[in-house]
Amino acid sequence: MPVQIDKELCIGCGACVGTCPVEALSLDDEGKSVCDESVCIDCHSCMGACPVGAISE
Ligand code: SF4
Ligand code: SF4
Repeated sequence: MPVQIDKELCIGCGACVGTCPVEALSLDDEGKSVCDESVCIDCHSCMGACPVGAISE
């Protein structure tokens, strides 16, 4: 299952975007991280990169 991003917690730092090996993550119009579920391979690299714990399974 693709990762879930808590937009209330996300501070839009972009750290997760750079860790994704398949470029599934981007920042939306509000500067919050969004995951393209059709691209995500569920590797969880992004989870450890988030400084505020906004990304979960
Ligand atoms: S779990 Fe892996 S593939 Fe999915 S968004 Fe995070 S870094 Fe990218
Ligand atoms: S690393 Fe966390 S706080 Fe930074 S953009 Fe990604 S989800 Fe948001």
